[in-house]
Amino acid sequence: MKNNNKFLSCAGLTILWFFSALSYASNQVQSIRIWPSPDNTRVVFDLSAAPQYKSFSLDNPDRLVIDLSNIVGGAALPKIKGDSPLIKSIRSSGDNNSMRIVLDLSSPLKPTVFSLTPTAPYGHRLVIDLPDKQRVVNRPPPSIRAARDIIIAIDAGHGGEDPGSIGPSGYYEKNLTLPIANRLAELINKEPGMRAVMVRTGDYFIHVNRRTELARSQQADLLVSIHADAFTSPQPKGASVWVLSLRRATTEVGRMLEQTERHSELLGGVAEVIRDSANERYLAQTVLDLSMNHSMVTAYQAANQVLAELGKITSLHQAKPQAASLGVLRSPDIPSILVEVGFISNPQEEKNLKSAGHQARLAQSLQRALKRHFELAPPADSLFAQQRSREHKVQAGESLSLLAQRYEVSVDALRNHNQLANDSIRIGQVLRIP
Ligand SMILES: [Zn+2]
Repeated sequence: MKNNNKFLSCAGLTILWFFSALSYASNQVQSIRIWPSPDNTRVVFDLSAAPQYKSFSLDNPDRLVIDLSNIVGGAALPKIKGDSPLIKSIRSSGDNNSMRIVLDLSSPLKPTVFSLTPTAPYGHRLVIDLPDKQRVVNRPPPSIRAARDIIIAIDAGHGGEDPGSIGPSGYYEKNLTLPIANRLAELINKEPGMRAVMVRTGDYFIHVNRRTELARSQQADLLVSIHADAFTSPQPKGASVWVLSLRRATTEVGRMLEQTERHSELLGGVAEVIRDSANERYLAQTVLDLSMNHSMVTAYQAANQVLAELGKITSLHQAKPQAASLGVLRSPDIPSILVEVGFISNPQEEKNLKSAGHQARLAQSLQRALKRHFELAPPADSLFAQQRSREHKVQAGESLSLLAQRYEVSVDALRNHNQLANDSIRIGQVLRIP
């Protein structure tokens, strides 16, 4: 699922809630879930109705206090699922109409408290986000070496209390994106010259903006987001691959240009030495335009390779890459593709998507496609580029023109580089590729 067409259902639920509030239905805490992630812990209180609450922080010792009103149950809290090093305990007190919940925290934190309206499979929720400053892993950016690894950021769609689409048998999209992503990372990491970084490593929520930021901080050459599609009727099936639309990319370039504080990030510090702000803007615009063109070409070519491979193991919903502004497809400076591996709303495909064998085949297809893409168009400083500039041993059935095509060089260049008198080559002959 890539977009949130929930406006209708949300509006419907708001009206329902309005009427139920008139009938004075008391609220109840039904369950408590703690979702730790590498840089954040989310605590979710599942409630039978929209919460009426106030919250505040206290120190010595560090606590977050939440006062819920119009609530039954007194001090009784349901069993808590999950834990986090940020939370020492959760306790409560109350009477027949209110409840005070106290989170004892392990350090001073700045919690964000907000409520969420129902989204299947979850109902009304009160959410507490605790940022985990200590646990944010500030990995240094990969150093630029003579032959660096190509970095693929793999994003398993959805997670935590965002289940994504739900199949007819009740299977969640978030539960199939992660194993495919994990398997893909494993295959990529076996490939010399390629390295995978995972955007999501477990079952927790990450905002789409944060997903792109993580890919950017790792200097990813490509961001691959894995999803499954869904429709209101069971018939649609097959995979599709999406790339950022030109319109959205252009809008984003404009927005980044307005954020002058980001120019030094975009220009790698050059902005600071340019005194003339008109020139700085011009330079930022040029860099962004080049970067956007590179991103869009890269994403489109990679998307085509992915479709070619996926087409061998599954039907395709769309045979060509589709352009849109959705999910992680939002940054003009990082080549990004979003792969819908099939329709979870189609009962047969849901069954396939659930199977570990099919998940592994999908991961293998993605790996083959990405490898092929970067063999054809390696970043200049990568190991792939270095290997490509090496040699080729002629095999049966190969001709000079075939090899020229494969390595994307002209026959003339290949002939001259190897000082060949004519176009005939023999099996076992070693050619240097220009
Ligand atoms: Zn999705």
